[in-house]
Amino acid sequence: MVDSVRVRLTVWYSAVLAVVLGIVCVTTYFIVRQTSMQRTDADVAALADSFLVTFQAELADEGNGPGRALLSPAHQAMIEHRSENDAFIVLAPDGERIAASDDAALSSANETTNRQLARALESQDFRQFETSAAAGAARLETIRAGRARVRVYARQFTADGKNLVLLVAQSLHGQYETLETLRTTFVWMTLLGLLLAATGGYFLAKKSLEPVMAMGAHARRIGATNLHERLAVVNANDELGQLATTFNDLLNRLDESFERQRRFVADASHELRTPLAILRGEAEVAMSQKGRRAEEYLESLKILHEETTRLIKIVEDLFTLTRADAGQYRLMPQDVYLEEVVADCAHSVRTLASEKNMELKVDAGAECPVRGDQDLLRRMILNLLDNAIKYTPAGGRVEIACRVSDGECEVHVTDTGSGIPAEMQGRVFERFFRVDEARSRQGDTGGAGLGLSIAQWIAEAHHGRLELVQSSKAGSHFAVYLPARKAVPVAAN
Ligand code: ADP
Repeated sequence: MVDSVRVRLTVWYSAVLAVVLGIVCVTTYFIVRQTSMQRTDADVAALADSFLVTFQAELADEGNGPGRALLSPAHQAMIEHRSENDAFIVLAPDGERIAASDDAALSSANETTNRQLARALESQDFRQFETSAAAGAARLETIRAGRARVRVYARQFTADGKNLVLLVAQSLHGQYETLETLRTTFVWMTLLGLLLAATGGYFLAKKSLEPVMAMGAHARRIGATNLHERLAVVNANDELGQLATTFNDLLNRLDESFERQRRFVADASHELRTPLAILRGEAEVAMSQKGRRAEEYLESLKILHEETTRLIKIVEDLFTLTRADAGQYRLMPQDVYLEEVVADCAHSVRTLASEKNMELKVDAGAECPVRGDQDLLRRMILNLLDNAIKYTPAGGRVEIACRVSDGECEVHVTDTGSGIPAEMQGRVFERFFRVDEARSRQGDTGGAGLGLSIAQWIAEAHHGRLELVQSSKAGSHFAVYLPARKAVPVAAN
């Protein structure tokens, strides 16, 4: 249950809402309570003022005779200020009640408020307040008697030369009832609000996550066989659209990579099938013909040897490329002088060139220090020289030169061969690409179309590049550019 994002979102959402509603309700409740208490305090003070005005007026009406009673003006003022919420008490300096509303105003107490007020006025706490008010200590207090709450205000005054105290008591029953209603309303509103918010939030979360679930279900259906399928992007700008786009980009890359692998395996099998078929055919011929001469067997063995050599070369090249692709080819970097490698390679292909009666010109005078894997660099240059000799007709010329320019070591291989047609020049570095497939399979020129791919990978693994500078019917020019030593460290593959 808690593993569901929907539920977690709903719980979080509801919890935050509960906290917010709680804070709002509690704050509102206390503000209302405070305000109403302040209003009561102002009310009792105003009532005291009004009571005393009436009381003094009634006293003045009694005349200035000796032994005037205070009871009558007090009762008169109480009757005038009669209310079920309020009660008045006039205290003598010794704390004795001269007059109290219960005599006049509260006589027919039958309302709840009135009853509570009457009970509070008789309570122990009220008596204590009376005593301290008579002594001039108490001014304003809330008295509790059972469920009754009464706000009492004490005011000293002088009448007829005596220091008296007026107590105004106001029932808080109405206020507390209002506050209780407010409390109950807040609790129910909060519960209802939370229920609505949780239900709404749950369905909203469910609705929002539906496209993600749909995406997940679709993604689960995509496998190697239908890797070309893509997720639907409803709105490319929202989060879900961006997620779908990112996922589709990943599928694109996977699809391309799968496609490359598929093509590579298909091409590799195709390349291996031809020499293997030749091997089997030659072996079958040799075995089927009885009484063959020794020279004929030797000829068959020569063909078997040639095809096996070709097979080994193809398998080695394939192995190199797959390890390079997987990032598993570990280079052995060392300080290398490229001009020495060039001279060494030229020496190796010298016989090949002279067999075709070709001129091989080597210009390796300049010092070209690089850091790299000597065996791989040698293989790269041999591939270029091998191609130049292979694809140049007998009697032609091949040149190899190396030099340093702008912090780069350059190796240039030029030949006077028939060149590569312009429309195919962009594809010569592709794996298994050959300009003339049929011709390449014949005799010595039978390459698998992997030489330039490997040479290019070697140049790039050394942070350099291999380029076909130009090619025309007059010949081709390939160039390798490698950073001169100290420029960039060699990568692991
Ligand atoms: P291959 O093993 O077939 O030589 P490469 O990858 O080395 O494969 O070369 C790819 C193709 O590019 C070759 O089949 C050939 O048609 C063409 N090519 C490469 N180098 C030369 C060159 N110096 N002159 C003419 N064509 C070339």
